Amino acid sequence: MYPADFDYYRAGSVREAIDLLGVHEGAELLAGGHGLFPLMKTREHSPAVLVDIGRVDGLSGVSVEGDTVSVGALTTHAEMAASDHLRDHAPALSDAAGELGDFQVRNGGTFGGNVAHADPRSDPPAALLALGGEVSVEGPDGERSIDVDDFFVGAFETALDPGELVTAVSVPAHGPGETSAYVRYRNPLSGYALVGVGVTLRTAEGTVEAARVAATGVRDAPFRLESVETALVGSTLDADAVADAATMAADGLDASDVQSDVQASGTYRLGVLPTYTRRALSAAVERLD
Ligand SMILES: Cc1cc2nc3c(=O)[nH]c(=O)nc-3n(C[C@H](O)[C@H](O)[C@H](O)COP(=O)(O)OP(=O)(O)OC[C@H]3O[C@@H](n4cnc5c(N)ncnc54)[C@H](O)[C@@H]3O)c2cc1C
Repeated sequence: MYPADFDYYRAGSVREAIDLLGVHEGAELLAGGHGLFPLMKTREHSPAVLVDIGRVDGLSGVSVEGDTVSVGALTTHAEMAASDHLRDHAPALSDAAGELGDFQVRNGGTFGGNVAHADPRSDPPAALLALGGEVSVEGPDGERSIDVDDFFVGAFETALDPGELVTAVSVPAHGPGETSAYVRYRNPLSGYALVGVGVTLRTAEGTVEAARVAATGVRDAPFRLESVETALVGSTLDADAVADAATMAADGLDASDVQSDVQASGTYRLGVLPTYTRRALSAAVERLD
């Protein structure tokens, strides 16, 4: 199908984009279009006005400053997958970017668009939640930062206020003894994550001091697997300890709280969650060696 008619504006700066959003009722940002256009083509979503930020300078790239890795909102998934900075300092994000979609989607889709879109099947949000960090946003009232723990609110719903745009995302850079990974079960039909798990571990002398574990594809928004995190702290990460912690992944979750569709029931998703948690943990542990 073809999208409904819409007006199109190209913003030359973040400020201009914010002004255009303020002036045109029902206006929506356009970055790579890989989240938006499929919905517009089926007319599930028909914004009257698109404000294209795709050519705004200064919103692209990965940088490391001190103990923080920053990713500009317009950085493509392909750029993230190829980034040495991410591979060295926050590999869960490059894992997620390298796994998602196909070549076209990775070359056109952006990190900022992906997190703002908040599709419950998206990969980067679980990696991001596992790493922790902040989403930098700018809007009519200026700039602010949102903790990633507070950013994803529900299906296609974030803590962004109307008129705000994501400018960058920052995560802590891994130091010695720190590791992360993202592993997913790719839905063979859609290519999205049926279940995906991100893990970050901070260890000292082989023992886990802190752990963040997050899942996507399971509920309406990515979420932390707190029972797994608790089980990991103090563990020496041998194969049995990893397997035991992973078994906690579905703790406290009921199939009725879990996404269920023609591709997989909630019960199935809960059934495979511990397996993908174990795989993500093992991938993170391997990077410590
Ligand atoms: C065939 C296909 C397969 C895919 N497979 C996967 C997959 O396996 N895993 C996965 O995670 N994703 C997948 N995607 C989605 C894709 O990764 C997109 O990159 C992502 O959903 C949106 O990024 P975008 O830059 O294309 O954003 P757009 O489509 O341009 O925008 C998406 C939404 O975010 C808003 N937005 C965009 N940029 C910003 C910003 N900076 N600040 C605030 N709001 C903003 C827009 O207004 C819109 O509402 C797939 C898409 C397609 C078409």
